[in-house]
Amino acid sequence: MYDKNNVFARIIRGEIPCNKICENDFALSFYDINPLFETHALIIPKGDYENILDFTKNAPADAQMGFWECFRETAEKIGISENFNVLANSGADAPFVEQSVFHFHLHLMSGARREEFAKEMDRICRK
Ligand code: AMP
Repeated sequence: MYDKNNVFARIIRGEIPCNKICENDFALSFYDINPLFETHALIIPKGDYENILDFTKNAPADAQMGFWECFRETAEKIGISENFNVLANSGADAPFVEQSVFHFHLHLMSGARREEFAKEMDRICRK
């Protein structure tokens, strides 16, 4: 069940700050607090969706459109047009990288790996 007190829900409510990139009525994007790459942004819908399946199954069409507009605007604003990765971790037991915040988000990553990359991947990748 969706936890209304997860960190992204609190960012949406303005209870904790974020380094915002873009916002519209349906979505918000900001920089990851613990970047793995030179550029590491997160795009989140404003509605209460736990993961990508929940969002694509249950969000109304205008919310889905608003989300993708925010994604596109974010990429434009931070200068990403080629050579990037998009990742959606889903579930505490996801096989590659486990989901740690249970509010749907896309990671948008570009540029050089940061120094902490190997250590962080070792920490967050499922063994
Ligand atoms: P995931 O493992 O896919 O659930 O990723 C959650 C991401 O949220 C991680 O990359 C964290 O570094 C990031 N994160 C957690 N708290 C914050 C925060 N307050 N502001 C920005 N990013 C955050």
